[in-house]
Amino acid sequence: MMAVTAHPDDEAGNFGGTLRLYSDRGVETSVICLTLGQAASNRGLAKSDRDLAEIRRAEFAASCQILGVCEPVILDYPDGQLHRQELNRVVYELTRHIRKFRPQVLLTYGADGGVTGHSDHSMAGIFATMAFHWAGRGHCYADQLENGVAAHRVKKLYYSTAEFPLPNRPPITFAPTTTVIDIGDHLETKIAAFKAHKSQSPLWTLFEENARKAGRRELFHLAAWTNVALSGAETDLLAGINKP
Ligand SMILES: [Zn+2]
Repeated sequence: MMAVTAHPDDEAGNFGGTLRLYSDRGVETSVICLTLGQAASNRGLAKSDRDLAEIRRAEFAASCQILGVCEPVILDYPDGQLHRQELNRVVYELTRHIRKFRPQVLLTYGADGGVTGHSDHSMAGIFATMAFHWAGRGHCYADQLENGVAAHRVKKLYYSTAEFPLPNRPPITFAPTTTVIDIGDHLETKIAAFKAHKSQSPLWTLFEENARKAGRRELFHLAAWTNVALSGAETDLLAGINKP
């Protein structure tokens, strides 16, 4: 299982309970975080962006350890600027990671940007979605297919989703929940992993309140599946839209 995120702390905030739950079940997990989070407004004791990046790299490692992540990877794309990155470059790099780790399931955000609606989250999801599709096609980035690296078709793609937005924020149109993961007591593990991000301590209270409100559930939208099923399919594009 692999999660593609934007910032250190996303792995805990959006995917933490699920990552730990599946790790406990013996599933090998990886998190690919695209930025070092150096544009954060909460900066701890950091004196420069580079300082903050190094602090957050260590916090990411500590959080991933709590979550039982086998392969944590943090990349160095500019925080807050993912929408300005060359699409092909980022998708290429993610495709390479997918072809090497060979996950069966990929977790990321939808273009809504998840519960915070952050544009970096949207972009992480867009890059990861393309990499999900292209990793399985041998003619895409064929130069990667050497030294034992082969095309790899990930079986399922999920977007993190939610039932309610954060308070006092503009509205977010969430992807429908198709999959509810009962994270059980790992709600506490997830909160502990979030608090491994000590430089982000001003966010702890808001995060913990929201996490406890969501409870022992993490919600996902199944966006693609190699064995796509028709069960539950709608027969009317206007179904349900007049309901309040
Ligand atoms: Zn984030």
